[in-house]
Amino acid sequence: SVKPSHYRRIVVLGAPRVGKTAIIRRFLGDDGFEEQYEPTTEDFHSKLYHIRGERYQLDILDASKERDFPAKRRLSILTGDIFLLVFSVTDRESLTEICSLREEIFTAKSKLTKSKENRQLPIIICGNKTDLNSSRAVQPSDICQSLGEDSALFEVSAKDCANLEEMFEALAVLGGLPTETR
Ligand code: GDP
Repeated sequence: SVKPSHYRRIVVLGAPRVGKTAIIRRFLGDDGFEEQYEPTTEDFHSKLYHIRGERYQLDILDASKERDFPAKRRLSILTGDIFLLVFSVTDRESLTEICSLREEIFTAKSKLTKSKENRQLPIIICGNKTDLNSSRAVQPSDICQSLGEDSALFEVSAKDCANLEEMFEALAVLGGLPTETR
């Protein structure tokens, strides 16, 4: 069985086509990599994960489709304990989108906790598609500039499986919010 403290609800957000679906598929242990682009409808997955001898249940929500429904997206944000904000290193605008999503998360969560600022939220920033190095449009220094030095950043490739395990582990052990803010 899974300890109550080892349940995580991860909400994945980011611009279209940055590779959210590909990352989630890898996370779920799917070995196939889909070259063909198919937009996802709202998607909710659950997985038991073993890390350093502990069992975690990670529920992962792909909130892509909620992009056009701010109220729904806000609800997903409110019920999430961990956020994975995905952009593509080949797409500068997708980084800008991460910045506004992060603000949205801060706003929604700080209303809930009634504190003015809640900068301690578990957010992981993911720069995907590092395999496309020749068309890289975002450098790690740009990310620091946009999001601050202290953000947890993983550069990955869903295609090559580069650095993914490290990121998934970080997602699990990052820990949820204190229960009263859920
Ligand atoms: P989503 O809209 O964010 O869910 O994006 P998808 O996961 O559907 O991916 C969009 C497109 O980018 C698809 O054609 C994928 O094959 C491609 N893609 C996703 N991840 C990577 C990656 O790491 N490297 C490369 N080269 N392509 C990727």
